[in-house]
Amino acid sequence: MPRDLTNELIEVLHNAREHAKFLRELGVENLSLNFASAPDSITTPEMDRAAAPVSTPQPVFEALPRKPITTPKPAGHAESLFGDLAADTLPAAKSSETLEQIWQDIGDCARCGLCEGRTQVVNTHGNRKARLMFVGEAPGADEDAQGKPFVGRAGQLLTKMIEAMGMKREDVIIGNVNRCRPPGNRQPTLEEAAICRPFLFREISAIQPDVIVVMGNTALRNLLEVREGITRVRGKFQDFRGIKVMPTFHPAYLLRDPSKKRETWEDLKMVRDYLETHPARSNS
Ligand code: URA
Repeated sequence: MPRDLTNELIEVLHNAREHAKFLRELGVENLSLNFASAPDSITTPEMDRAAAPVSTPQPVFEALPRKPITTPKPAGHAESLFGDLAADTLPAAKSSETLEQIWQDIGDCARCGLCEGRTQVVNTHGNRKARLMFVGEAPGADEDAQGKPFVGRAGQLLTKMIEAMGMKREDVIIGNVNRCRPPGNRQPTLEEAAICRPFLFREISAIQPDVIVVMGNTALRNLLEVREGITRVRGKFQDFRGIKVMPTFHPAYLLRDPSKKRETWEDLKMVRDYLETHPARSNS
């Protein structure tokens, strides 16, 4: 066999073994490869079951009254910090804004002090027709350097998690509560999060995903009005103005405590099964 082909084969086998190892860590017990229908997708018995046709597709979401979109006020404007949480509302119906318009509004943002230490604003990135959105906390060093969310170690783990669900990273859209890297990767303050999150809400309104996975406490508490932490709330579907929300652990936490990958995989399977058994809402 030519040397090039041998090397390629060795690399393919190595990658397959690494991926199988990762899936085992996530708690996937059986792998079956369905080359006929999806050459590079991974299926599990649960996925096969979930993919079975549903006889009566149910209406997924109720129509909610349209609420006004609000634009965050500049830092220092007391009302925008804590006084007017209700104004963080987004319309349940798809907004007519484009992501470009939202990003233009964000511009070279200086609405909070995080602008001082950042290299660049890191906006939401991915497939704008995605049915699935992931939301994290704030950019780290790699994201700050590259201008895209989740491109560092936690991002690589997130990509593997997405692939374990049988999807590709290009199928989903990924964002953060805050768009500027906090110094030393500290958690954004309540005030910093409150200033930045309305932009995320506007993006959600423009994208209208079917499911949002909130990863970690910052994303959980900024999207949902819950006081409990991620450990209690994870694995249970929540609602964000008509959109299903699945809280789960943040991939950076999984890097520190890999034993939590199994629970995360349970949460992601629920999301995968939901998407496979419910028709897509039109978000085009
Ligand atoms: N952690 C986050 O919460 N977001 C990123 O973009 C990267 C790491």
